[in-house]
Amino acid sequence: MSKIRTRYAPSPTGKMHVGNLRSALYEFLIAKHEGGDFMLRIEDTDQERFVEGATEIIYRTLEKTGLIHDEGPDKDGGYGPYVQSERMKTGIYMKYAKELIDKGEAYYCFCDKERLATLKTEVVEGKEISIYDKHCLHLSKEEIEANLAAGKPFVIRQNIPNEGTTTFHDELYGDITVENSELDDMILIKTDGYPTYNFANVVDDHTMNITHVVRGNEYLSSSPKYVRLYDAFGWQVPVYIHLPLITDENHKKLSKRSGHSSFEDLLEQGFVTEAIVNYIALLGWSSEDNREIFSLQELIECFDYHRISKSPAVFDIVKLRWMNGEYLKAMEFDTFYEMAEPYLKEALPEGLDLKKIAAMVKTRIEVFPDIAGQVDFFRALPEYDVAMYTHKKMKTDSASSLEVLQEVLPILEAQEDYSNDALYRVLSAYVEQKGCKNGYVMWPIRTAVSGKQMTPAGATEIMEILGKEESLKRIRKGIEMLQNA
Ligand code: GLU
Repeated sequence: MSKIRTRYAPSPTGKMHVGNLRSALYEFLIAKHEGGDFMLRIEDTDQERFVEGATEIIYRTLEKTGLIHDEGPDKDGGYGPYVQSERMKTGIYMKYAKELIDKGEAYYCFCDKERLATLKTEVVEGKEISIYDKHCLHLSKEEIEANLAAGKPFVIRQNIPNEGTTTFHDELYGDITVENSELDDMILIKTDGYPTYNFANVVDDHTMNITHVVRGNEYLSSSPKYVRLYDAFGWQVPVYIHLPLITDENHKKLSKRSGHSSFEDLLEQGFVTEAIVNYIALLGWSSEDNREIFSLQELIECFDYHRISKSPAVFDIVKLRWMNGEYLKAMEFDTFYEMAEPYLKEALPEGLDLKKIAAMVKTRIEVFPDIAGQVDFFRALPEYDVAMYTHKKMKTDSASSLEVLQEVLPILEAQEDYSNDALYRVLSAYVEQKGCKNGYVMWPIRTAVSGKQMTPAGATEIMEILGKEESLKRIRKGIEMLQNA
């Protein structure tokens, strides 16, 4: 077999949606798994949907996620141009459309809006579309020439017979056969001279030597029409792989409303790129041993496209959060710190040792915005209930806590070195002298200095960050609360 060539063919219409990123990822993995080439083609023929800056988002995202293309608008591989509007200027689409007209597989259509408005309509996948009645197929050669000479606006339509069936093969769905009468004479070239996606994808995939076409299954129903075009030209049909739908938690198509439908949304929500890519790889694919954590390199090694599922994939933000947490735990501290710093700065007053706090939270958060909730007590002691001093396992209650806090206060007042180690030493000495368990002493102290049931670190580590003055203030406050309870 010839070298595998896949392409990512985004339309520059805005953000990078999770579904788009998954297509890019799978196309990249399928090519790289076999040592093939991954190409980028910009599909900008729909001028109405074009969004300024969207092409930059595509480049930026591919680079950031490591889906490095071997060929594209910025990397010539001999199959250019790689932007459809530039390809159009070469006349390629019109040339092939005319070839189809000569073969009787396509025809000029001069129907105006008024006439099209009178056609029968049908609802297909929730959208109302009008069924073209082949009116212009029957125009004589002279009529067509006269219309063209008069500069009458036209489109070029595919000519699909009313009888017979068309079969195409998808690697996941197998053979699919449809009645030709169900296929409409779709437009290949629009009045503005641009090709439609429906036509351009065929011409481009063939002329750019693409072997595997990977795309969302919203294209499944149009694929018979594409196969008819390949056959009409006598071209080899590429391997088709249509990917399952991605839904939200409510099993509805993942949409903007979910709040996490694009790569940019996820980055803003504090997810890291590697976790996002890893998670997206599992939206419709699984490895044989159901392993879940993969680097991009490991995905390249394991990615067998035959294991792509046909069932819809649910985008589960809880699972992504878990996965992101695993990536944070495994991350080098310096990298973690660099990414966590802005969140720490926002959550904490100046003057605290942010590096130490970062080390405390590294294994306790799933996404960076969780930092705020973990460290808020450093900024100010929260309101808390004295009931928190009572802990069954630590064998503490209000009375024991009051006693402990009153006894350690003078020790901590006399203590000059507020490093974690030094504090731990003096408090351990006190524990030993008292002949009790560690928790019996540390629990009330930690409660007093944090006001929280759960903290990212123990009492002495917290006091080290707070410093002597603030630690004592909080312990005195605890004593006062316990005395008044
Ligand atoms: N331009 C199409 C899209 O963004 C590409 C579909 C395909 O991969 O063929 O949906």
